[in-house]
Amino acid sequence: MRALIVPFRSEEVSGLVGFARSLAGSVSGLAMDKRVEAVLASYVSRIYVVEGRVWLDGLASVVAGVSDLETIVVLPASKSGHVVASLASQLMDAAIITGVTGVKVDGEVVLERPVLSGKGLARLRFEPPLVVTVQHGRFRAEPREAAVERVPVKAEGGVVELLKRSEKPSAARGLEVAERIVAVGRGLRSKDDLGMIEELAAVLGAEIGCSRPVATDLKFLPEDRWIGLSGKKVSPKLYIALGISGQPQHIAGILDSKVIVAVNTDENAPITKYADYILVADLYKVVPELVRQLKKS
Ligand SMILES: Cc1cc2nc3c(=O)[nH]c(=O)nc-3n(C[C@H](O)[C@H](O)[C@H](O)COP(=O)(O)OP(=O)(O)OC[C@H]3O[C@@H](n4cnc5c(N)ncnc54)[C@H](O)[C@@H]3O)c2cc1C
Repeated sequence: MRALIVPFRSEEVSGLVGFARSLAGSVSGLAMDKRVEAVLASYVSRIYVVEGRVWLDGLASVVAGVSDLETIVVLPASKSGHVVASLASQLMDAAIITGVTGVKVDGEVVLERPVLSGKGLARLRFEPPLVVTVQHGRFRAEPREAAVERVPVKAEGGVVELLKRSEKPSAARGLEVAERIVAVGRGLRSKDDLGMIEELAAVLGAEIGCSRPVATDLKFLPEDRWIGLSGKKVSPKLYIALGISGQPQHIAGILDSKVIVAVNTDENAPITKYADYILVADLYKVVPELVRQLKKS
């Protein structure tokens, strides 16, 4: 059994390698750009370097092309990761397991993934060929000194041609890897009140996220900021939920946070069951005071 990891960003490498090493003796990586290739070189013994521009469908063909019946392909549980995972698994005629959060060795090796909005944990047996997506922040690997074989591969088979890459206008691309997140819910009364939330995020060095209705119904924030079952899954060290009730669909996206702080006027809000610190208070009083105190310190 061998693993092939497919990171899209250099900060995903350690987590994917950590997972792959727990399953397979040999781990190789696929690099789409120089930054990822440079980081991969400290972790894996073979790097497939994609030559030329490649879009997700072409990438899936490359992944399938360098895989065999003994391969476990490991991708991040992100939007791009899931697109490539589903296309590659079809091309490889392989099973797919998404959103893996753990590996258990109990006589046999099984993969764990949350189900029922995080209320349950599925344990799944597997055999290669297999395509897996892994949640960010669950695994970690140390770099290893070793000779690296560099194998150039041509991107073929895609029908979409990538013409250019440009940065997203919003900073939400960092939400999944952010160490601190300040998230707002329907407790925020007006879009104009986002100013104080931005101020708090700035002093904390945090990304701003939200519950689904804040993006979809109220349109206070862009849709790429919503967190939860149908939005982004996050795993920050600190998650501050301001005026968010904590419905299961929201909680499903924040369970990997290290510390959850909830500010809510309702002491019985469901989020209080998941929060490490609860402030039963009005966010309009808490946020400006927090900014004041943090600026002082
Ligand atoms: C298929 C499906 C998928 C979904 N996916 C998602 C998802 O991915 N992410 C998501 O978030 N939701 C999702 N939802 C919606 C989810 O069910 C909830 O409706 C939503 O999370 C509620 O958002 P909220 O907590 O902001 O609002 P509310 O539930 O209305 O809660 C507002 C909270 O603010 C508190 N509050 C009010 N004023 C203040 C104040 N001044 N200070 C402090 N606290 C205050 C209230 O006490 C309340 O607890 C999904 C729903 C469905 C059906």
